[in-house]
Amino acid sequence: MTSSVSDVVIVGGGIVGIATAYFLAKSGVKCTVIERDAVGSHASGFAYGGLSPTGDSDASGNLLPDARVSNEGMRLHREFATSLQAETGINTEFRERPTLSLAFTEQEVRTAKAHVSKLGQIEGWTARWLHAADARAIEPRISDEALGAIYSEGGADVEPYRFVLALLGAAENLGATIRHGEVTGLKRESGRVTGVVLNNGEVSSDCVVLAAGPWTGDASSWLNIPINVSPLKGQILRLRAPGMPFRVSIGWDGNYATTKPDGLLWTGTTEEEAGFDENPTPEARDQIMTSLLKMIPSLEDAQLVQQTACLRPLADDGQLVLGGVPDWDGVYVATGTGRKGILLGPAMGLITSDLITKGATDIPIEQFSPSRFAR
Ligand SMILES: Cc1cc2nc3c(=O)[nH]c(=O)nc-3n(C[C@H](O)[C@H](O)[C@H](O)COP(=O)(O)OP(=O)(O)OC[C@H]3O[C@@H](n4cnc5c(N)ncnc54)[C@H](O)[C@@H]3O)c2cc1C
Repeated sequence: MTSSVSDVVIVGGGIVGIATAYFLAKSGVKCTVIERDAVGSHASGFAYGGLSPTGDSDASGNLLPDARVSNEGMRLHREFATSLQAETGINTEFRERPTLSLAFTEQEVRTAKAHVSKLGQIEGWTARWLHAADARAIEPRISDEALGAIYSEGGADVEPYRFVLALLGAAENLGATIRHGEVTGLKRESGRVTGVVLNNGEVSSDCVVLAAGPWTGDASSWLNIPINVSPLKGQILRLRAPGMPFRVSIGWDGNYATTKPDGLLWTGTTEEEAGFDENPTPEARDQIMTSLLKMIPSLEDAQLVQQTACLRPLADDGQLVLGGVPDWDGVYVATGTGRKGILLGPAMGLITSDLITKGATDIPIEQFSPSRFAR
């Protein structure tokens, strides 16, 4: 059992926790991330890595309600694209990536056309509707059944595990530390947090950030207020596909596929309520292959190289959970990023760091308050 002291303790070594550590350390704050498994060993390391502010990679995807947080996430990713490599030598494989979002029915075409103008309003984005022949001129392998597609530019992608490792390296260079252990409770005196209890000791601190992804709900019993966050499982296939690499991302109905810099075609995904089970399943594999072949029928002979499964942290109202906890001075929650945590993670970290170091943030976050679950 070991005891130590830190200005700020961050529970969870996913993208949100590591980004928070990075920005705190950059502000000169001594912080410790506590991770019970390995950094980036859950969703933050096994996501697809798409950076897009739309709800899904499909023609009808709604824009995220928190446009300011997602724009901030995109801005930070563009900065990190060069700075992290310079600081750590790790290439996060950031790439600008156009998307063809397919429509297969007249209804999908109508929704897609309406969506084009919304997409065009996003900072740094252009989008246009393409008839099937024009879409096929960009990527001839899309299905003959597709009636057309939105072609959009402005999105990008990263390799999420490399991104988290690079951010960790940069945070450590600035003085952040990682401690292995499982947080099992919080300590409080006179309404203020005084530390965290671990399975292997304690860390004293008067500031704690709960960034434990889908497990953040465990803190409900520590805080004695509900934090209604639960896991939404998703799976991805990495395939060795015949033919030339895909130069664009192909999307439809929440599914996506593209060739990543590792030369494999990554495709997904599912949305499953399976508790905290992170095992890949044959049912998900078949479902993802069916959607892939609907988009790109010629990939029937693609060989499965790896199947991954991980858990998105989702609040029961679908919103972010971001801000201070009532009656627990010094405790902050940062989670609820759902399908967009790789995009949003850096912004979540910066906002949380600003709350701690400046007591305020440039981006309004009242609607994301963790106190809303207790009302
Ligand atoms: C299939 C799939 C594809 C995705 N694709 C994309 C995408 O293309 N683009 C995008 O933007 N987002 C994507 N996401 C979403 C994104 O991966 C998540 O929103 C994001 O990774 C959540 O990050 P996090 O740091 O909150 O949580 P996590 O990555 O889950 O990290 C939380 C960490 O906390 C640790 N922890 C939990 N409890 C404790 C405790 N008590 N003590 C110590 N440590 C603890 C865990 O071990 C874990 O490492 C995808 C998700 C899935 C499932």
